[in-house]
Amino acid sequence: MTTYHNPDLHCHSVVSDGTLTPEELAARAKAGGVDLWALTDHDEVGGQQRALAAARAQGLDYLTGVEVSVTFADTTVHIVGLGFDHTDARLVEGLAETRDGRGPRAREMAAQLEAIGIAGAYEGALKYVGNPALISRTHFARFLVETGVCRDTAEVFRKYLVEGKPGFVPHRWARLGDAVRWITEAGGIAVIAHPARYTFSATEEYALFSEFRQHGGRGVEVVTGSHTAQEAARYADMAREFELLASRGSDFHSPGESHVDLGRMAPLPADLTPVWTALADRIHTAEAAV
Ligand code: AMP
Ligand code: MN
Ligand code: MN
Ligand code: MN
Repeated sequence: MTTYHNPDLHCHSVVSDGTLTPEELAARAKAGGVDLWALTDHDEVGGQQRALAAARAQGLDYLTGVEVSVTFADTTVHIVGLGFDHTDARLVEGLAETRDGRGPRAREMAAQLEAIGIAGAYEGALKYVGNPALISRTHFARFLVETGVCRDTAEVFRKYLVEGKPGFVPHRWARLGDAVRWITEAGGIAVIAHPARYTFSATEEYALFSEFRQHGGRGVEVVTGSHTAQEAARYADMAREFELLASRGSDFHSPGESHVDLGRMAPLPADLTPVWTALADRIHTAEAAV
């Protein structure tokens, strides 16, 4: 079995809220020394075929990927799926249902911004959208930076678009059990994405991990672009406690916005079992160039 030294199993393309194409990401992953790659667009597998072809062209091994938006305990949680059949009908249908409602939500976000004097946000955000079914807060954030309302996207997510601030529209995403089942029944492994990003109490977090396991979830992101070293250590402990496979990904969105580039993360703690070892038969191996 191949030993991987630098897997990056979390990033976004123009198919969701990234700014690079799957082809550009594959080239950037290669340049960053990545040896196993997955494109994990939000709620959408429309980029998988292109990513797979681009990985092959770059000589990169590839796992199919997706990042499903879930509502758990009234909070948005992201579940990464890896190594599934991206043509699986139930998965494709479930993701379409999950994407549904993004349009009306975006209109409401724009109406809230309009009410505080920021006009044209819907049209402004749309300019950044690569996939009309996937208008997201990131596209609004880019508009608010472009128009000088905020200095950068980090400032946007402090002052706008988050709970209690203008432009926040609560939304019901997929159910945890559904997301885990779509991924698992399509032959993949479900992984809790960037667990340190949620604002759960210890009890709620315990419930998330327990219920995720009960539904058949098997992995957790330990090393991600949005974890500090301390957070990675804490979720390494959670992986040990809940006997979860460990994943690693940059969550790269854009050269200008993401502070962690593809392949530029710390390694996983050596005692954890990497999620890709459980997906060996699901890896699309790049054919050696002739
Ligand atoms: P949505 O799915 O429309 O709610 O948008 C969620 C996306 O917004 C995430 O996937 C991130 O790309 C982005 N986002 C959320 N919070 C932050 C943050 N604090 N800083 C930067 N980007 C963020
Ligand atoms: Mn995103
Ligand atoms: Mn996420
Ligand atoms: Mn992500």
